[in-house]
Amino acid sequence: MTTLNRRQFVASVAGVSALGLTGSLAMLPSTAAAADARKKGYYSYKVGSDIEVISIYDGVWQKPHDENFIPGVSVEDTKSALKNGGLNDEFVPIEFAFTVVRTGGKTILIDAGTGGQLAPTAGLAKEGMAAAGISAADIDTVLVSHFHPDHIFGLMEKETNAQVFPNAEILVGETEYNFWTAPDLIAKLPEGRQGLAKRIQATFPTWKNINQYSGGQEVAPGITAVDTFGHTPGHTAFRVASGNDQTLLVGDLINLPALFLANLDWQLAFDADKDMATTTRKAIVAEAVADNINVAGYHFGFPNSGKIEKDGNSFVFNPVTG
Ligand SMILES: [Zn+2]
Repeated sequence: MTTLNRRQFVASVAGVSALGLTGSLAMLPSTAAAADARKKGYYSYKVGSDIEVISIYDGVWQKPHDENFIPGVSVEDTKSALKNGGLNDEFVPIEFAFTVVRTGGKTILIDAGTGGQLAPTAGLAKEGMAAAGISAADIDTVLVSHFHPDHIFGLMEKETNAQVFPNAEILVGETEYNFWTAPDLIAKLPEGRQGLAKRIQATFPTWKNINQYSGGQEVAPGITAVDTFGHTPGHTAFRVASGNDQTLLVGDLINLPALFLANLDWQLAFDADKDMATTTRKAIVAEAVADNINVAGYHFGFPNSGKIEKDGNSFVFNPVTG
């Protein structure tokens, strides 16, 4: 595995493109691998000797700044945190990357991307999947971390809501499912979330291939569901393990590392229960650092897997590119 400090990575990629040094990429193998992964739309790595993990890039939402995104934190402070993380600060670059795992003879999709239904600059996953040689028909099982649009719209065709993976078993967390399908939910939700709940209620309960998992359950060979509630009522991380090796797919437990790892007390507008999300986040970060666990985040940018490391009083994410 090649680890790459985020600042070195950003600096060297910026340097390479500014100088037009495409011919010199061979001199920078890790940087070249990272840049290449984004262009290719996927990269893969092993957990143990028998599990293959493939990260698929689905693009970016260039979220305009707004005062409510991080309650109590100004746009100016948000911008300087982005800058410190080596990111563009004109907007909040919320990138999307989901995961395919090949394990025990099965091909498992973990979350399904935006389906091209969220932002004009997202919805690239089809190309990434094709480039990785994976077709929708190859997917045996879909594991869903939670029911936010950027994770489930890729399961539904845009106009008709028809299933994109009709032959796969779709496994969803029971707490998450029960929350979103409660008959009295829609009236209780803020207006901005009602459309999502309606779409969920019009689809999932009618799909015969949906089953539920609960926390701690082995949902596929080597993959265990980990309750990480807070971002949504039933948000789930997935631990992929083989022998002594593991990678923890943290989903949306941590959003952009430059913001929410660098500042563990910052809370995210999209977290349903902000205090619970913060407590859960701190516990998982502590575990990942203490045990030097490989983690992958849905919104970590691309490459989206690597190590969380202590950096003074805060934490940084260092991508692992191969
Ligand atoms: Zn998300």
